[in-house]
Amino acid sequence: MTKQSWKICIQSYARHHPNFANQSEPGRMFCSQISKKVQYRAIKTACHELSHVFSVRHCQAYECLMNGSSQLEEADRKPFALCPVCLRKLSYYFGFEGEELSRYIELKEVFKYMNHGDTQ
Ligand SMILES: [Zn+2]
Ligand SMILES: [Zn+2]
Repeated sequence: MTKQSWKICIQSYARHHPNFANQSEPGRMFCSQISKKVQYRAIKTACHELSHVFSVRHCQAYECLMNGSSQLEEADRKPFALCPVCLRKLSYYFGFEGEELSRYIELKEVFKYMNHGDTQ
């Protein structure tokens, strides 16, 4: 959930777990180590929500991290990367215009560190 005017977002790991709604004791799934897949989804959603905080709206121009999604499968299908339009908005906002490629190279290293493999 994002409140853009307040520049905040609140996120739960629960929505990223496929069996959360079916668990008799939902809190138990968090007793053990959170799976890499759930962690990956949570980070992806955090990047999406934080982009909203910085005034980027849902994208309908390309397949993009800023595509809207209401279900887990839909969220999994969208790429982690921003399209050129949304990336331009964030680079302008943060003032890293012209450094987009180096930021994606750094992001690739983060994915490598997370051992996920989705480096699109
Ligand atoms: Zn959104
Ligand atoms: Zn976009």
